[in-house]
Amino acid sequence: MAVADPYTEKTDEQKAICEMVRQFADEQILPKAEHYDHEDTFPEPIVAQMRELGLFGVTIPEEYGGMGLDLTTYAMIVEELSRGWISISGIVNTHFIGSYLLMKFGTDEQKQRYLPPMATGELRAAFSLSEPECGSDVQAIKATAKKVDGGDYEIIGQKMWVTNGLLSGLVFVLVKTDPSAEPRHKGMTCFVAEKEPGVSENTGKYAGFNVPPKIKKLGYKGVESTELVFDGYRCPAENILGGEEAGIGQGFVQMMDALEVGRVNVAARGVGIAQRALELALRYSQERHAFGKQIAQHQAIQFKLADMATQVDAARLLTMRAARLKDAGERSDLEAGMAKLFASEAGRFCVEESFRIHGGYGYSKEYEIERLYRDAPLLLIGEGTSEIQRMVIGRKLLQRHKI
Ligand SMILES: Cc1cc2nc3c(=O)[nH]c(=O)nc-3n(C[C@H](O)[C@H](O)[C@H](O)COP(=O)(O)OP(=O)(O)OC[C@H]3O[C@@H](n4cnc5c(N)ncnc54)[C@H](O)[C@@H]3O)c2cc1C
Repeated sequence: MAVADPYTEKTDEQKAICEMVRQFADEQILPKAEHYDHEDTFPEPIVAQMRELGLFGVTIPEEYGGMGLDLTTYAMIVEELSRGWISISGIVNTHFIGSYLLMKFGTDEQKQRYLPPMATGELRAAFSLSEPECGSDVQAIKATAKKVDGGDYEIIGQKMWVTNGLLSGLVFVLVKTDPSAEPRHKGMTCFVAEKEPGVSENTGKYAGFNVPPKIKKLGYKGVESTELVFDGYRCPAENILGGEEAGIGQGFVQMMDALEVGRVNVAARGVGIAQRALELALRYSQERHAFGKQIAQHQAIQFKLADMATQVDAARLLTMRAARLKDAGERSDLEAGMAKLFASEAGRFCVEESFRIHGGYGYSKEYEIERLYRDAPLLLIGEGTSEIQRMVIGRKLLQRHKI
């Protein structure tokens, strides 16, 4: 009798969606990723197809035109996209976080206004916490918003590393509305800042919202990472997440909540890239011969494959556990931190082992593993570095086991 695995078991709907996304990755992403990676250009045709498949609205409720699916199904989809190319999952990642923020904290008016175009991908979202001088220490941000005549808020400051910073039309940006607040997080507010997608120097009602040229990166190409410069950009009070009365001073709490689901999302990306590295290693090790036999027949190589496969499965189990707990309405902060830490490190580990198995060819741009080798380290950084995850896990452990 088959034993059902409570974490990775899929419903018929999940099986059908994952099969569809895997086929999409096999046919549309994997054959083209090398081209877009090499050119470092935005994969517009792939994104157009993702819109047709409804992938920008996976978790957005049906009443707003989305699919209304849960975090678990979303994580399964992200694993498949990331197996194709993590930049593709990066294009939906910040959008997913933005829609989560709106669904959980937005006013009815904000939901009505933004969720329908977000569900179709017509409007895409970015989120912005990091600044040139701080990333891990979010409460040290310096960007500010001050109420001015007419009731708008004027935003001044510089943001760093904004994924989808140029092509998005909506940025969920965390700034200080009370820089002297103690504790510091009570003075932080999230603004839903609109801008013109693809425009570097906004004018008219978006004047003062500028996007410098994209940052040149080791990997994670195709999807742009940019700075954002706010120089007197005026944001209406109604664009404070949750409304002015309820939303002022709530930005930090809102963003930290979103990062918890964001961590499940990054964990799923780790599983996807680790899975792909394993597939490439399994294939190459049976094609390549050394000392008269397939290299896969050497025990040292089999041990590598065994360690990789074990890491992939463990990472997937942790990721699914965190997602399922969240969907069940249970606490998942500790579990999301563990999943993100383990799966991102598993991604790096499996990619490096696969790279070693490829020998000299792993160093050649002719082989896919070279791209994965440049892409995987990103997952150790975004949504909190491994060091920060350990801090989160340690703190949550002590809270749960207080004597
Ligand atoms: C390609 C890319 C895309 C990104 N996209 C986004 C985005 O869309 N939106 C966004 O807001 N940000 C984004 N980021 C920023 C990312 O979240 C930060 O880089 C990350 O949080 C780390 O911050 P930092 O780079 O400032 O490093 P720092 O915080 O300066 O940390 C440097 C080192 O010190 C360690 N460290 C820091 N504090 C401690 C501590 N207390 N104890 C032990 N070690 C510590 C860190 O782990 C790290 O190893 C992106 C980054 C990259 C590279």
